[in-house]
Amino acid sequence: MKIDTLLTRAGRDPARQNGAVNPPVYRYSTVVHPSMAALESAYENRFEEPPYGRFGTPTTTALEEAVAALEGGGRTIALPSGKAAVAVPLMATLGAGDHLLMIDTVYQPVRELCGVLLAGKGVETTYFDPMIGAGIADLIRPETRLVYMESPGSLTFEMPDVPAMAAAARARGVLSAHDNTWATPYYFKPFEHGVDISIISATKYICGHADAMLGLLTVPIDEYRRFKSVANMLGYCPGASEADLGLRGLRTLSVRLARHQEHGRRLAGWLAGRPEVQRVLYPALEDDPGHAIWRRDFAGASGLFSVVLRDYPKAAVAAMIDGYEHFAIGASFGGFESLVLPVSPEKYRSATNWAPGGPTLRFHAGLEDPDDLIADLERGFERLTASAERAAE
Ligand SMILES: *Cc1c(COP(=O)(O)O)cnc(C)c1O
Repeated sequence: MKIDTLLTRAGRDPARQNGAVNPPVYRYSTVVHPSMAALESAYENRFEEPPYGRFGTPTTTALEEAVAALEGGGRTIALPSGKAAVAVPLMATLGAGDHLLMIDTVYQPVRELCGVLLAGKGVETTYFDPMIGAGIADLIRPETRLVYMESPGSLTFEMPDVPAMAAAARARGVLSAHDNTWATPYYFKPFEHGVDISIISATKYICGHADAMLGLLTVPIDEYRRFKSVANMLGYCPGASEADLGLRGLRTLSVRLARHQEHGRRLAGWLAGRPEVQRVLYPALEDDPGHAIWRRDFAGASGLFSVVLRDYPKAAVAAMIDGYEHFAIGASFGGFESLVLPVSPEKYRSATNWAPGGPTLRFHAGLEDPDDLIADLERGFERLTASAERAAE
């Protein structure tokens, strides 16, 4: 079955659902059992059949089955946010005295998790250059338990050599994890590139409508109990509606991502030709330094990229952004709508430097007509230069 077909089929079976096309949304806490013996066996079998709402429901199980099929291996755990999907593997694999190798361009809130929660547990984190590739082997110590990657780099879109790093980890018996929120398994398959643990914030492209928080963690089948137990100890379980919105999002992921990619490429290409712009950070552009690795490993690009402007004053950038009609100012991405966000990657680096010499903005290309989006960007540049000229007078 090809991937577009799989997205329409996975995790549903009308014959088991009274003929309904979609699995019903189960809302429950208590599951009742017909006898004491049944209760006992239900809890013994808790990793297969949820005996209580916190362990899961048929709705979360359907989502998990669909995502595991899309990932092409492993077993998926649905979680209440992307951040929970980051936290569970860190908490499950690392304890006192252990060492974590963390990519320097990680989604920045993860730094706090390492610096506060993990450090408090006695876990040491070493940040590494995203471009280190197979050189990661030199940083692996006897107490290293996990190599954590994300590609492209959060905010700055570098393309690390994931297969080389994953192979180096595996050769030393160390697990590797990859945050695949940007591409989703539709455009990048972590397991085909040697990664052990796949993390997705489904809040973004999977749910796709800026209306739900949801995380997905996919782990090797023989490691499932370890990770699921930690999720359960921490009390992480997604809401019924959110799990259902994740399933619904999967059905249209292929068409939405194709359109986000088309608009992303169009906007990024147009921006790259503008005199106000120093650099566009988007691996789908042919002259991007990460383009070769992106082409080698990825089947496509989503609609999220950054732009480094020339050195304009903050007030001029604010005049540009505040006046946008279609680019709302806000965090997150993957919904149907376009977004812009001023970002400061230099604040979230410790192993590498980021000094682009101009303000950096992250754009999300939504599903609006790209002609409208480009006209909006063009009017923004007029405000930017007018404001900068006034300031210079
Ligand atoms: C948003 C995001 C997360 C966190 O996901 P939430 O659903 O917001 O908790 C993790 N990783 C990446 C790359 C993200 O973009």
